[in-house]
Order: sequence, then structure tokens, then C-alpha cells
Amino acid sequence: MGTRGRDIVGMDINELLGLLNRAFADEWLAYYQYWLGAKVVKGPMKDAVIAELLLHAADELRHAEMLSLRIIQLGGVPIAEPKEWYQHTNCGYDAPTDPYVMAILGQNVKGEQCAIGVYKKLLDITATKDPVTYNIAVQILQDEVEHEEDLQSLVEDIEATMHAQGR
Ligand code: FE
Ligand code: FE
Ligand code: MG
Repeated sequence: MGTRGRDIVGMDINELLGLLNRAFADEWLAYYQYWLGAKVVKGPMKDAVIAELLLHAADELRHAEMLSLRIIQLGGVPIAEPKEWYQHTNCGYDAPTDPYVMAILGQNVKGEQCAIGVYKKLLDITATKDPVTYNIAVQILQDEVEHEEDLQSLVEDIEATMHAQGR
């Protein structure tokens, strides 16, 4: 823990650590939801969807990494027990039990929309209080906004393909 780096944070560190650990839980659950979704998904444009889901899974894992490093910098401890992810998550976990491509994409769009809200809130809270966490939240938010758009574009493409085929 860097003591001066911690001193310049203008808000309650434990409150900030709580927010960071909740986002950390979200990222692991999002990672697993994408990773498993990519294994089980079926239906039109499956290969393009699998490629996108795997890219997003890698991004979510990278977000977990970024958050864990910030938690440790602030003298905190990243959630050590996976079962606690469920107690701390903001956005939850939507098990990909229906493998149909539109069901999987719909679940993940919902997750991204929740994530966008979480990071927007983290930005608002840290804006004048903690420029380091603010910067991390900006980077992650940029990815989540891109993820939402990627998934919604895939949904549109699949709908257009099905319409063209008269289905
Ligand atoms: Fe993420
Ligand atoms: Fe995402
Ligand atoms: Mg993408």
C-alpha cells in the first residue's frame, strides 16, 4: 500500500473499497457468463457470436484484474471466496441455460446495461475525490459501452438474416 497515494483519496477508503469489490464480483460473474455462453450457444451466426463472446470474456477478466490492482493499492483485499461474489455483485449472474443465440445475447445485453450503470455511478462518486479510480472507471466504462453496442448489432444482424430467410 502506498501511503501518500492513499492519503490523496478524498473519500472514505472503506466505502470506496466496497464499491470496487462489488464491481470486482460483477466482472468475475460476467467473465464466466460470457465464457460459458460461448461454449453452449446455438443458432444463426453462431461462429460470429462465439468470437464476440470470447473477446468480451477476455475484457471482463481484464477488468477484474484492473479492479484487483486498485483494491490492493488502496490497502484492501479483493474478495477471496467465489461464493461471496454472489453477496456483493451489483449485476448478478444470468446462467446461460437456454443456449439459443438470441437468449444468450439478450442476457448479456442486460448485463452490459447494468455494468454501464455501475461504472457511471462510480465515475460520479469519484469524480472530484479519486482521479486514479476515476481513470480506471473511464477505461472500463468505454469497454462496457462498446460491448453493449457489439451485442445489439449482432442481434440486429441476426434478426435481419432471419427476416431475409422468411423465418
Ligand atoms: Fe467489465
Ligand atoms: Fe462488458
Ligand atoms: Mg466486442
